[in-house]
Amino acid sequence: MTPCLLAINAGSSTLKFRAFSADGQTLLARGMVDRFGSKEAKLQLSDARGQPQTERPLDDASHQAALAAVLNSLADQQLQVRAVVHRVVHGGKRYHEPIRIDAAARAALDEYIPLAPLHQPVSLEVVDAFQELDDRLPQIACFDTAFHASQPEVATRFGIARHWHDEGVRRYGFHGLSYAAISRRLPELNLAHGKVVVCHLGNGASACAIESGKSIASSMGFSAVDGLMMGSRPGYIDPEVILYWQEHEGMGVKDVRRELYKNSGLLGVSGVSADMRELLDSELPAAREAVELFCYRAAREVASLAGALRGLDAVIFTAGIGEHSAEVRGRILQQLAWLGFELDHAANLAHSRRLTTQNSRLPAYALPTDEEGEMARQAARLL
Ligand code: ADP
Repeated sequence: MTPCLLAINAGSSTLKFRAFSADGQTLLARGMVDRFGSKEAKLQLSDARGQPQTERPLDDASHQAALAAVLNSLADQQLQVRAVVHRVVHGGKRYHEPIRIDAAARAALDEYIPLAPLHQPVSLEVVDAFQELDDRLPQIACFDTAFHASQPEVATRFGIARHWHDEGVRRYGFHGLSYAAISRRLPELNLAHGKVVVCHLGNGASACAIESGKSIASSMGFSAVDGLMMGSRPGYIDPEVILYWQEHEGMGVKDVRRELYKNSGLLGVSGVSADMRELLDSELPAAREAVELFCYRAAREVASLAGALRGLDAVIFTAGIGEHSAEVRGRILQQLAWLGFELDHAANLAHSRRLTTQNSRLPAYALPTDEEGEMARQAARLL
């Protein structure tokens, strides 16, 4: 049996996982449990090259059964899991590095549920299920907030009374594992000491200002709602809109949260879908408007983050939309032409790494994100 690290990325209905060599450097297998936590749960496992190895229904809604099936399917491939690494959204002010999840840390992570009410509980449920399944299996948490710990104080503060900030009401920033993975690749673009804005454009979307490999500002703040418009989240919104909903529409906390996390963004504006691919294929005016707003907001945010950086050497696109949508990248770069980006249409359509012409004053790139790989490397260092 080959020892491996299992990186887990748990979402509300899918659990994605990747197995890496014990040093965290080599991908050995990947898979997912679709409809995780339901009776329709289905396990898929592929080898490192993406060749399918297993695909079967689980017939059991429990998290433990699904995780046991994941471990067994890896064992069938002669892979023995030595440690499990979890993507945990919020590490609060305390956790700036990956940690071994012991009883004290597990209790502390509950404290951050109010700061990430939709995302934090899912990963903690998976931690608990593994603990019940095999309490000798080391579990490690890697935090999406951690990469942003390098931000200067001014980038973390809201313009509200000091005591709120001291109590934790401040900007944290998210998608940190994705930014850390991109940051690791900056030397190969000669940007190790550069000023870069990275746009992580997926279902969740954010942008991050990186200088010399470190986060100095980001579009997401206290929660994963702020900043860019996303699949079903609005991004930045005037807080008075929320008061209006409460005062004049009788909406309570739950209604507002549903509106902010589930009914807004591409879905809310288009009225048809949160999925960028579907909207790009649609002829509906509202779908086109949703795409236009998505690109407009992203371009505005890049310029804002360039302000935080006091300069700009490159823009990098990553995640589902950033890696795969030439249309979205093209529109954003064309809106940013004034900053010095000259789009190379053919390169963009071909999904080349470099998206701008050789004469472009500033370069733009598309790079694949590697959140699980980043987790595995961080965990290997910790172990
Ligand atoms: P998550 O935040 O769930 O990890 P992803 O990074 O997988 O999300 O991104 C999902 C988004 O990427 C969806 O809006 C999807 O439509 C979009 N996407 C994936 N492939 C393409 C493509 N070829 N063209 C346009 N959008 C795409």
